[in-house]
Amino acid sequence: MADRSRDWRADLVTTYADLFQPVGDPPRAQGWPSVDDGWEDLLARACGRIRAAVLADGGSFHTIQVKEKFGTLRFYWEGDLSPETAAKVEEAVDLAEARSAVTCEVCGGPGRLHGGRWVTTRCGAHAEGRRPVRVQPGDDTYVFERVVGKRRSILHGRYDRESDTFVDVAPFGTEET
Ligand SMILES: [Zn+2]
Repeated sequence: MADRSRDWRADLVTTYADLFQPVGDPPRAQGWPSVDDGWEDLLARACGRIRAAVLADGGSFHTIQVKEKFGTLRFYWEGDLSPETAAKVEEAVDLAEARSAVTCEVCGGPGRLHGGRWVTTRCGAHAEGRRPVRVQPGDDTYVFERVVGKRRSILHGRYDRESDTFVDVAPFGTEET
């Protein structure tokens, strides 16, 4: 077992103590990232975006759980934030989860879902004999919401790894909140 005090996860929960509320020495946190090293960068990006949104809002934020499930990232949180800020936080989480689907969990290089008895997101070098899962049309489409003022829009788009944004974004519909 690696020395937790020298682990990037410890650095992350310490750097973003406002989001993780770590305890103890070396730090532990409820939301301690239970993911492999290749996802360090996408988690750091997410934390930077979340902090910016929460600071601007002045509300509260707490990371509940960060883990891998069915090959991609899950980032669970709770907080007391305005709807607009909550949507910004959700967008940061959506971007991180979308990025995890195209980023090798071992090395951080471009990857894709590989299957077998269980599925993981890996590059070819770290696939460990598992085969790439066939991508069906629409598999790379994400559904998310944006809130601007009192308007909540449900959108769908495709994740672009190069720009780390959702592209080809189109509305499903709009409702007043
Ligand atoms: Zn890899």
